[in-house]
Amino acid sequence: MTETETASAPRATAARGGDPLERIYADVLRRNPGETEFHQAVREVLETLGPVLARRPELAEARILERVCEPERQIVFRVPWTDDAGRVHVNRGFRIEFSSTLGPYKGGLRFHPSVNLGIVKFLGFEQIFKNALTGLPIGGGKGGSDFDPKNRSDAEVMRFCQSFMTELHRSLGEYTDVPAGDIGVGAREIGYLFGQYKRITNRHESGVLTGKGVGWGGARGRTEATGYGCVLFTEEMLRSRGTGLDGRSVVVSGSGNVALYAIEKAQQLGATVLTCSDSDGYVLDRKGVDVELLKEIKEAGRGRVSDYAEARGGDCRYVPGGRIWEVPCEVALPCATQNELTEDDAVGLVRGGVLAVAEGANMPTTPAAVRALREAGVAFGPGKAANAGGVAVSALEMQQNASRDSWEFAHTEERLTGIMRHIHDSCHTTAERYGSPGDYVVGANIAGFEPVADAMLAQGLV
Ligand code: GLU
Repeated sequence: MTETETASAPRATAARGGDPLERIYADVLRRNPGETEFHQAVREVLETLGPVLARRPELAEARILERVCEPERQIVFRVPWTDDAGRVHVNRGFRIEFSSTLGPYKGGLRFHPSVNLGIVKFLGFEQIFKNALTGLPIGGGKGGSDFDPKNRSDAEVMRFCQSFMTELHRSLGEYTDVPAGDIGVGAREIGYLFGQYKRITNRHESGVLTGKGVGWGGARGRTEATGYGCVLFTEEMLRSRGTGLDGRSVVVSGSGNVALYAIEKAQQLGATVLTCSDSDGYVLDRKGVDVELLKEIKEAGRGRVSDYAEARGGDCRYVPGGRIWEVPCEVALPCATQNELTEDDAVGLVRGGVLAVAEGANMPTTPAAVRALREAGVAFGPGKAANAGGVAVSALEMQQNASRDSWEFAHTEERLTGIMRHIHDSCHTTAERYGSPGDYVVGANIAGFEPVADAMLAQGLV
């Protein structure tokens, strides 16, 4: 079955009365009204699973898909806190414990004003399959808050984190649910969250959070892992087409953790990274982004990319409010946020001769853009495969915590390289096995779904 047939099959047969995938999707829409990002993430997965259900009727009989689309538990809570002036604020906290089939719920926390139930559910749903692809024993979950850490003092962020954890701690545990960072949650926030968990529980339970400081249970290489992993995955995609990153021009969006280390690794592999961006605009640096300078600017006072352009000088140009994807390149790595690369952007990238696109962020490419890239034969690495390096090293952090060990950076990097190769190869062979050679969307969805489905069957109706 071709990818277009796979995508359109549910709709067509639904009209004839009763395609199971279309019925499941309609149920998801009805039961989760208004949660557009969650609908998008579910649709994207369901569209590729028709051939699996056709081969394995036992999965439909056990209602595996209906069960996997319904979180095991949804926690929504109030987070009151005071700012430095003593004013009271009230935010909303979320933790979606989506699937514990393969291991403890695992996934980050996002602090951003856009966070709502639908966004956390989309991220949690993606996380189930992403985590399964790593081959490590981790289930899927996600959480966060509509709290905006921008322009907040350290003391305000600490009070917010303490209030958040005071409520959430009862749901966590190294064998139960293990959060980490995501947008707006980095080393500082993980530190405050861990401190409060430790104080409330009176346990130095290292494995309850990942992304910790290296001096107190954190894994060396966790900070770099998502960006490095995304580039390693891209290199594998290019290699399977007989080429590589060496000498290539790369456009990276974002300037957070994922973007920074994607830039670093791409340049280590011989590419020139032309750009980085934030919510205000992008930087075009034809000589290649100076990643050490960018890190310095980001670390000192949480700087903007306009500050980078100013400090860099020379030909480096800051484009306020511009569309980063208008910069022609051979490889594009969207590493900022969901739905940042649209159909028009994709068409422009194809026209400019792009060879590969890999998602460093979660679902940064809109469905229409994904379609345009796949139809043009561009190697497209979906986030659940391409950005799985971060959560994979989180699982390695849990492993180090459980054995009270601390590995060298080089050891983690070696493991990460092996894991990204394994993910690439299993997506590749699965796509072939299901008649869609070279299609990493089909490969990632099916290779992520099958181990979860098999374990659900084995574990009975829970
Ligand atoms: N937030 C990251 C992701 O989207 C990492 C999650 C983790 O390390 O648990 O995969």
